[in-house]
Amino acid sequence: MLAHSYDLHMHSTASDGAFSPQALLEAAEEAGVRILAITDHDTFNAHEQLANVSADMRLITGVEFTCRHDKYVLHIVGLGFEVGPEMQAHFAALDQLRSQRAQLIAERLVKAGLPDLLSHAQQLAGDGQIGRPHFAQAMVEQELVKDLQQAFDRFLGRGKVGDVKVDWPELGVILTLIKVSGGVSVLAHPTKYNLTLSKLRYLIADYAELGGDAVEIGYPGITTDQQNSLARILLKHGLKASAGSDFHSPKQHWSKLGRFPTPPESIPHILDIFAERAEVIE
Ligand code: AMP
Ligand code: MN
Ligand code: MN
Ligand code: MN
Repeated sequence: MLAHSYDLHMHSTASDGAFSPQALLEAAEEAGVRILAITDHDTFNAHEQLANVSADMRLITGVEFTCRHDKYVLHIVGLGFEVGPEMQAHFAALDQLRSQRAQLIAERLVKAGLPDLLSHAQQLAGDGQIGRPHFAQAMVEQELVKDLQQAFDRFLGRGKVGDVKVDWPELGVILTLIKVSGGVSVLAHPTKYNLTLSKLRYLIADYAELGGDAVEIGYPGITTDQQNSLARILLKHGLKASAGSDFHSPKQHWSKLGRFPTPPESIPHILDIFAERAEVIE
């Protein structure tokens, strides 16, 4: 996979990533990345923890929002937004929703015969936004499963007992929030929702209709065939392309900072929007 000088999707300890925000920034710089967005799940705290951004690096604000549309749970990366009162209120609500969800996950797992993992998962999440990966890690540490993958396959993955349904915000609400905050929206990793191509077509049409701006089309795991199919859909709806590594941890050998399949050149790239903005500021 090609090394790129930009990366618009990655996680820190503010959610389920292994590196602190500052360490993540430094690792990205080391990997040759110069334009990046730290996009933790449902929290902006990483940006508040950064002590020092080197002058060579361009940091774009980012969050990966969890939301729902029809019966699907989707991830929307918001980029380049301002954090005003509306966004702050949304983050406060998401903190609550995620901590209530963690309690529900723990209860469900107990009913399935596992020990109560809530405090262990909370301890692993620390000050960060808690999620299923913290439960997976707790299961590994308590030797209930052999690795994280097995924790997802048995207990936490889609449709399993720990995949608790909560009232995530509606897709349209998230897209509007990003838009009124001056940001651009990106539908994350479209091939990872387990949808057929025809369902994905409908989903992307709805997304465009609701005001979505871009779709990820370069990320670990996407194939050239998938890129070609998606490219046609994006062109049809006038959506832009985005790309990123979705880096979480150096232990996940399939994802490295700045490394992902290059988006097809036929699609306008979301970075063009940020390049235009930079010119306006200068
Ligand atoms: P949550 O935000 O709590 O819903 O957890 C979602 C996160 O769990 C994703 O961003 C991934 O980091 C991780 N994840 C989801 N599904 C799997 C899986 N099947 N195997 C490993 N990690 C997964
Ligand atoms: Mn994650
Ligand atoms: Mn995601
Ligand atoms: Mn992600």
